[in-house]
Amino acid sequence: MFHSPSARQVARTPADLAPMPLYRPETISEALAALHESGGTIYAGGTDFFAGVRQGLSPKALIWVAAIAEMKGCTIDSNGLHMGALNTHDESVAAPELDAVPGLAEAWSKIATVRIRHQATLGGNLMARRERYELSILLTALGATARMVGPELQVDMPVQDLWQADLEKTPLLASITIPLDNAPMLAYERSMRPTFTQALCRRGQALRCVMATEWLQPWFKDAPLDADAGQMMSGLPADFHDPAVSRAHLVRAGSVFLKRQIARLEDLA
Ligand SMILES: Cc1cc2nc3c(=O)[nH]c(=O)nc-3n(C[C@H](O)[C@H](O)[C@H](O)COP(=O)(O)OP(=O)(O)OC[C@H]3O[C@@H](n4cnc5c(N)ncnc54)[C@H](O)[C@@H]3O)c2cc1C
Repeated sequence: MFHSPSARQVARTPADLAPMPLYRPETISEALAALHESGGTIYAGGTDFFAGVRQGLSPKALIWVAAIAEMKGCTIDSNGLHMGALNTHDESVAAPELDAVPGLAEAWSKIATVRIRHQATLGGNLMARRERYELSILLTALGATARMVGPELQVDMPVQDLWQADLEKTPLLASITIPLDNAPMLAYERSMRPTFTQALCRRGQALRCVMATEWLQPWFKDAPLDADAGQMMSGLPADFHDPAVSRAHLVRAGSVFLKRQIARLEDLA
């Protein structure tokens, strides 16, 4: 499961970029039209974009989506908690709707630095598709779905499928939905980062545990509430290891943390 990065660090700065068209759409339809016309790159908070430039990204055009109101805000309805892809980390954590999922705001509040939290978006964190970014871990644990839109198609897919999603037909992430049935609650452990992180969601009588490392896409396991932590962690695939950590260590340490997190959720319930 470990993939070496295809792009290498190169000596480039944004000043090395050639001038390019900048689109500022105000609706999703305008953004999709601009993408189609220019073959450009979506730019939300831009914090990952500049890392991409240093790694060799040379966009033909920028589609700066920050003004699209329909991709902002949080709402709750019978389908769950909906969060716009353009919400920054800080805006998300401050939204009262997040109280519907105990533990989520606390976990999210630990991500990144003050400057980044103010600028970086939910959509950018997921769509950068970098293993070391954390929202895919939290949202996979919560069974969230991503609404991907294209000119002719709209698809709701599990967040864990975004890693492999074909962005040709549906290039834009519009929003995320967390189902609220059976009162989900979340515990998150990132004290071992970058070696590993672990999220645990309890939903009624069911648990979902997610393990991730700096280099590996999140792995998840569903189990009943009374499941044994060691047994859950022993389900880690044989190839779940990376240059920094062995599978055996992940199973051992992961079991210890999982026991603690199950107890933490017991207290929250
Ligand atoms: C110093 C620093 C520290 C950080 N620490 C952490 C950390 O501790 N934990 C963590 O999880 N992350 C961390 N990050 C990552 C940060 O959270 C991401 O950079 C951020 O979430 C990306 O959001 P953005 O809006 O800036 O994305 P952008 O840079 O605008 O975009 C990122 C990518 O996503 C695409 N994209 C953006 N929005 C959409 C959309 N709606 N639909 C389709 N594609 C889209 C863009 O085309 C681009 O490929 C850190 C980043 C920095 C620079």
